[in-house]
Amino acid sequence: MAARIIDGDAVAAKITSELQRDVEALKGRGVTPRLAAVIATDNKGARIYANNQAKTCQKIGIEYSLVELPPTSTEADLAAAVNKLNDDRSVSGIIIQMPLPEGVNARKLQMMVHPLKDVEGITPANEGRVVHAPQPFLRKPGPGDPGYDTWVEASLNWPLPAPAPCTPTGAMMLIRSLGVDLYGKEAVVVGHSEIVGKPMGLLLVAHFCTTTWCHVATQDLAAHTRRADILCVAVGKAGLIKADMIKPGAIVIDIGINRIKEIGADGKPVLDEKGKAKMKTAGDVDFEKAKDVAGWITPVPGGVGPMTVAMLLRNTVAAARAQLG
Ligand code: NAP
Repeated sequence: MAARIIDGDAVAAKITSELQRDVEALKGRGVTPRLAAVIATDNKGARIYANNQAKTCQKIGIEYSLVELPPTSTEADLAAAVNKLNDDRSVSGIIIQMPLPEGVNARKLQMMVHPLKDVEGITPANEGRVVHAPQPFLRKPGPGDPGYDTWVEASLNWPLPAPAPCTPTGAMMLIRSLGVDLYGKEAVVVGHSEIVGKPMGLLLVAHFCTTTWCHVATQDLAAHTRRADILCVAVGKAGLIKADMIKPGAIVIDIGINRIKEIGADGKPVLDEKGKAKMKTAGDVDFEKAKDVAGWITPVPGGVGPMTVAMLLRNTVAAARAQLG
């Protein structure tokens, strides 16, 4: 049976429309949340991403400012820009757009963002929130059963206190949107990066999943992925997860983003009007075949991506509220 497609755009739209009300409430208290993005690149993808952020912010009433530095900027230039934004009381949140100029240590720069303004949720203080995630009681008890009130409350109040890392939190929201009882399920995360894979696994543990991380040293990747009731993939290698590596009926969350050549029905690359190979965005999972095996699956684009943006805005609103005291 074909998998149900998880519509990240729809879930993200619901979250952002709720955020719009929160922004109105903050404005009523005299505060307009403001997101500042530091950019030091001419990279087309980074510009598109920044434009999308600006448009989404505008839609829900968050102010957006782009702090532009030349692509020749040094680490000291960028650090000075970040520190200025840290000190600017009108700025609620800061995001550093990738890629950065050659020679700039991205992680070092990200660590300079004040944790209260770290709307990407990737400073140690905010990543630590994942470790302290409330554990929703997910084996649904019936009304009147011990734990029922806790379960309802935890479900409503979840996810974590923001800011928390955007992509894994957004992916977890998508999984939760399915209404599946996660208690005791086998979860496998492929990829163990600090800002995606590791926190993703911790969030699944917080939901009482038995969780395994896979990485470059994993001996037999397929043996792990085939056991997964919930499979989250965050690597950045198109086609890494084939259909025969997926347990029938599994929830498959494809976090990877790759640019690949579009292939026509004749098996050859599709060419544009200039004779160049047309490119398209794809995840890490072989979506076309995997959707015949999985129970639920996220498309790329239109799955986790919109949720990452929604979580960025959610973190910005939460940061503005926290700074208000
Ligand atoms: P990253 O820092 O490059 O991490 C990639 C991870 O994959 C590493 O932990 C690496 O392990 C692991 N890995 C590499 N080859 C592997 C293999 N053959 N089998 C198993 N694991 C392997 O990237 P990231 O920031 O976590 O992002 C991962 C992907 O998600 C990228 O495609 C990125 O573009 C995408 N992404 C998407 C969103 C979104 O909104 N959808 C947001 C952020 C990132 P080692 O460290 O051991 O090599």
